[in-house]
Amino acid sequence: MKKDVLVMNVGSSSVKYSFFRNGKIIGKDNFERVFTKKQRLDVVRKVAEKVDISGLACVAHRVVHGGSITGARKVDKALLSRLRRVAELAPLHDIPEIEVIEFFMKLKVPQVAVFDTAFHQDMPLKAKAYGLPYKYYLKGIRKYGFHGISHEYVSRGLKGKVITCHLGNGCSVTAIRNGKSVDTSMGFTPLEGLVMSTRSGSLDPSVIPYMVKHEKVSLERISDMLNKESGLLGVSGKSYDLRDLMNSKDKRCLLAAEMFFYSVTKQIGGFAAALNGVDTIVFTAGIGENNASVRKNILSYLAYLGVKVDGAKNKKNSRVISSRNSKVKVMVIRTDEEKAIALQALQAMRK
Ligand code: ADP
Repeated sequence: MKKDVLVMNVGSSSVKYSFFRNGKIIGKDNFERVFTKKQRLDVVRKVAEKVDISGLACVAHRVVHGGSITGARKVDKALLSRLRRVAELAPLHDIPEIEVIEFFMKLKVPQVAVFDTAFHQDMPLKAKAYGLPYKYYLKGIRKYGFHGISHEYVSRGLKGKVITCHLGNGCSVTAIRNGKSVDTSMGFTPLEGLVMSTRSGSLDPSVIPYMVKHEKVSLERISDMLNKESGLLGVSGKSYDLRDLMNSKDKRCLLAAEMFFYSVTKQIGGFAAALNGVDTIVFTAGIGENNASVRKNILSYLAYLGVKVDGAKNKKNSRVISSRNSKVKVMVIRTDEEKAIALQALQAMRK
């Protein structure tokens, strides 16, 4: 059986690819400033020539929003039309990805779609539904959750009650019981939940009509502000990068950092309650993997759970950073979303 997998990750302004042979990455590239469909397809054509598509088991696509789809799926016409319907929930990413799927479809290459939402789709209804009139749940207005590829990858093989913290540009926390996501902090879109680099995270929905009325701004403008000008950047007014904020003496910078730790802690605490305990807490992604001081600040709130951190191991970003007598195991696990996509795609091809 062919085993090469081309992983495509297409956004509104970039095309990333990685190329796997026997589960090992042997090539990758990241093209920035790719804005139009024509530019996108020109890049993809070059990628297709470079990797020799005749040897591919499949092209695997990272699709951010898969609606209620669970697992990775082989692409056929029916799936494609379902993706087109769901794409309006995450247009900036999913529409460019669909254009690339259509390109490879013409070349008759087998394709698999792997979803950021899929891991969370079996969450119980009480976690998925919002406290809105139920007809809206039936119309699809509910929690979908994101970063599922990463949460699933870093929790593989961990038994019992696990809380995974994906802290990168976007940040989310997931509650996992025996390998299944039972709740997650992001919601209908990736805006819900934690304070993030430039996203506000959760707030009282009444803020929005109030701002429309009193600040005289459009809904579109508010949506931009909540996604791109809020969070660490918005509170500090200086930077979205926790390293800058924690090194600063500026009060608002320090406040932004403190709000970040506090929001992650509250989410972990909430999920520890939801799971009725926690065996393992995992940190991953850019901030979670690399910043010991951030982890220390977050974990300092969790002593009541019996969390004890081994300072030296934490500083070294060791795989296990809790001390031997900690009631909860705390781990740092590198996420590898591209590899996870390739693995999920090969599995789907075998089905
Ligand atoms: P994403 O996949 O969400 O775009 P990544 O997991 O690649 O993000 O993480 C990128 C983020 O991690 C950036 O916001 C960057 O500032 C942050 N980051 C990387 N290393 C560190 C560090 N040592 N301390 C704090 N933030 C870090």
